[in-house]
Amino acid sequence: MVQEATHLGAAELMKLEDKYGAHNYHPLPVLLNRGEGVFVWDLDGKRYYDFLSAYSAVNQGHCHPRIIDALKAQAEKLTLTSRAFYNDQLGVYEKFVTEYFGFDRVLPMNTGAEAVETAMKLCKKWGYQVKGIPQQEAKIIFATGNFHGRTQAIISASMDAGATADFGPYLPGSEIIPYNDLAALDEALKDPKVAGFILEPIQGEAGVFVPDEGYLPEVRRRCKAANVLFIADEVQTGIARTGKLLAVCGNCDCEKSCDNRYESRPDILILGKAMSGGVYPVSAVLADDEIMLTLKPGNHGSTFGGNPLSCAVAIAALEVIKDEGLAENAMRLGNLFRERMNRMIAKTDLVTLVRGKGLLNAIVINDDEDSHTAWDICVKLAENGLLAKPTHGNIIRFAPPLVMTEEQLHECCDIIERVVLGFEKAA
Ligand code: PLP
Repeated sequence: MVQEATHLGAAELMKLEDKYGAHNYHPLPVLLNRGEGVFVWDLDGKRYYDFLSAYSAVNQGHCHPRIIDALKAQAEKLTLTSRAFYNDQLGVYEKFVTEYFGFDRVLPMNTGAEAVETAMKLCKKWGYQVKGIPQQEAKIIFATGNFHGRTQAIISASMDAGATADFGPYLPGSEIIPYNDLAALDEALKDPKVAGFILEPIQGEAGVFVPDEGYLPEVRRRCKAANVLFIADEVQTGIARTGKLLAVCGNCDCEKSCDNRYESRPDILILGKAMSGGVYPVSAVLADDEIMLTLKPGNHGSTFGGNPLSCAVAIAALEVIKDEGLAENAMRLGNLFRERMNRMIAKTDLVTLVRGKGLLNAIVINDDEDSHTAWDICVKLAENGLLAKPTHGNIIRFAPPLVMTEEQLHECCDIIERVVLGFEKAA
């Protein structure tokens, strides 16, 4: 059967997913079988610019040779030991990654949602053991519009009906305050049972919402004053995507040799996705001793977390980010992209605005959230060789690999402009 499947065409392969897979995704009708750099190809050999990058996991570009080499070399030596024993990659990786991001310690996991769960547990442990919150009473603050993954604990703090309906009862202990609202944060911080505030510095899934200038440093300052942990979920925004190594770096320029001075340094940093350049599930929770050392053997773990393969891959993926100047490229191309989109918007009523930072951007379509317009535009973009996906109905997120060149970016803007302006005429 598997042998047979390799001879099937795109329509048949899509039907297999439809018939045998759970229907928990609604993909665009494009079936891919190859990727390199900023491009992916379908079965017929048609080439597309990837403007989603697997939800910002493929920042380093598809199948980056350095990362694939690291994967192959380690795969032939040792892949998994579990944490029952030491292995020759983990300590080296832990030293590398903590120095890279400027924290005392790291707890390695696999997916973004697992890392968020880990951070929630770590936050509560600190809340009970260090802050002295009475047992069973710790609270964690979240922001409206948040997206941190889809586990039971995480969706308990979500406001998205699609993610929460029929999954109750929800976990108690989370409080939701408006995003980008310091007065609301001040109010919530008055509660001495609050252990932490988990925040996406820029909300990706919600539609790329960038907070006001100064919001993040103030969040850090106010959390510190209230003895509450500021926990940044940079699973989507981190690792050069928004034009800096991290979105919390703000305007700080220390990233080449970061020594913790960055503007909004969180107490706990959550990373995933591009930690491996999209090659392997690698996520991480970083914190300093006072927080991380509250965990003892048996409190938390994962069979695959910190396995030698993930360590080798992550080191290569993070080296590529710095060696190829991908944060700087994202910053420069992001500015160009928004400039081009703003020029396009001036010529049409179909798009109301473009927003974002670095190469994490979105355009808002002038139609209802439940209309099909954004989806139909994405289908047309695909026909024209560019893959993007709507988020929240009328918003289209644009997040290409950060290895894109200026010439390629202009070509992509030409495609988007042609499709959007053409679409308006047809409507
Ligand atoms: N946190 C944020 C901010 C995300 O954007 C995502 C995924 O999109 C997650 C967590 C969950 O990551 P994963 O899908 O790897 O579990």
